[in-house]
Amino acid sequence: MVISTDFSVAIAGAGLSGLCLAQYLVRAGIDAHVYERDLGPFVRRQGYRLILDRYGLEALRESLPVPLYRLALATSDEPGGHLRFTDSRLRDAFTITFKQEQHTTRQVDRLTLRSILQSGLDGRVHYGKAAVGVDSGGPGRLRLRFSDGGAATVSVVVGADGVRSALRAQLMPDANPVNTPMAGIYGRSPLRQNGRSIIPEALRTSGVLAIANEPGRAFFFTSMRFGESPREAFARLAPGVFPPTGDDYVMWGLLLRQAEVPMNVRGDLPGLREMATQMTADFHPLVRRLVGTAELDTVVLNLFAAGQRPRRWAVPRATMMGDAVHAMPPFGAHGGNTALRDAALLGRRLVDALTDGTPLEAAIAGYQDEMVSYAFDAVDDAARLMRRLTGNAAAPHWVLTRVLPRLHRVTVPEA
Ligand SMILES: Cc1cc2nc3c(=O)[nH]c(=O)nc-3n(C[C@H](O)[C@H](O)[C@H](O)COP(=O)(O)OP(=O)(O)OC[C@H]3O[C@@H](n4cnc5c(N)ncnc54)[C@H](O)[C@@H]3O)c2cc1C
Repeated sequence: MVISTDFSVAIAGAGLSGLCLAQYLVRAGIDAHVYERDLGPFVRRQGYRLILDRYGLEALRESLPVPLYRLALATSDEPGGHLRFTDSRLRDAFTITFKQEQHTTRQVDRLTLRSILQSGLDGRVHYGKAAVGVDSGGPGRLRLRFSDGGAATVSVVVGADGVRSALRAQLMPDANPVNTPMAGIYGRSPLRQNGRSIIPEALRTSGVLAIANEPGRAFFFTSMRFGESPREAFARLAPGVFPPTGDDYVMWGLLLRQAEVPMNVRGDLPGLREMATQMTADFHPLVRRLVGTAELDTVVLNLFAAGQRPRRWAVPRATMMGDAVHAMPPFGAHGGNTALRDAALLGRRLVDALTDGTPLEAAIAGYQDEMVSYAFDAVDDAARLMRRLTGNAAAPHWVLTRVLPRLHRVTVPEA
């Protein structure tokens, strides 16, 4: 479909949702540009994997040209389907097995997905452009302003600038996210070390949440194996686009209380890794090895926040998507899926409006109503799961760490 019109869209933020929306719109023949604060696509490693559920996958299928969607699938893997809850010495308490039909969830490497989402958007993704505000650009036009004094004048502005959005205070003035007490120090470590997988066969298809003796602290890890080597899959399906990464890895996260992370360590990668080392000193040797072999530039601190339902959208023809609206703690793997779902939904509403003559304001309001409904269900789910897994309730914690592990065999001997 090619829509010939002077309609144009400016998207702030080249993350998952911003790039996905750009793909959707450009594929439909709409003039869309993405403005990203970072100086380049891979200045931050953001080295972790994402589990995409049926909403995330469907959004990608709808938005991407077929070869790029195939590329996302080819480089992804089955997520495994088991989440083991253990004590800090990796003694099983219990295991959840997800009843998923095959191919309804995939795990993808985030950097690889971002690279796929940028493919074909040549000249439409502008780096070093930090959005700072929106104002009127004349009849039916808005101006997205940047910190360097520049601006883009367009028909519609979309804020997809993530959890610390610069546009949120203006576009959704009553919906600043609230902080939670919890945080995560994340990292990634090579899966194969000295020619062998660091993860024992018994855990090959499992994510593991090892709960510490102190309430409010736990360690999560899971392996990311590429279905097909990104180098080969990119050469076959997106020649000329280079994959940013390729080696299988283990993604891990130490969950802890925000109050435990001193201010002077928050932006200091060696300091964060040292904290993770100290706080996992009593954990199973496998956990200590994962932290000890983490690639330093992938270590990141995430302070968990939860979005609040917006009640007022202050600038007609400007809207928002993804974490900028509905930040959520990373429990339940909803954040990225919901962000991708927003992008496909907004894309569909805009394209439909241009084809059937629905006023743009009505199309955008329809998107906002539908998005707020499913997205804040996901925020509530994620916040509930976080409270359940990291809460202070003494009895469940005692059962998880002291009673159940004694009833099960040791899955990973401490050799
Ligand atoms: C450790 C971890 C694991 C996760 N695992 C999963 C998972 O398994 N499944 C899942 O669905 N979700 C997961 N998530 C959540 C997911 O990563 C986010 O929800 C998702 O990235 C949100 O996408 P987004 O497009 O809203 O924002 P982002 O992807 O964060 O992109 C925002 C972009 O905006 C840019 N930006 C910021 N400010 C400005 C500005 N002023 N102007 C221009 N650009 C700006 C940023 O640099 C960034 O590129 C996880 C999150 C974490 C931390």
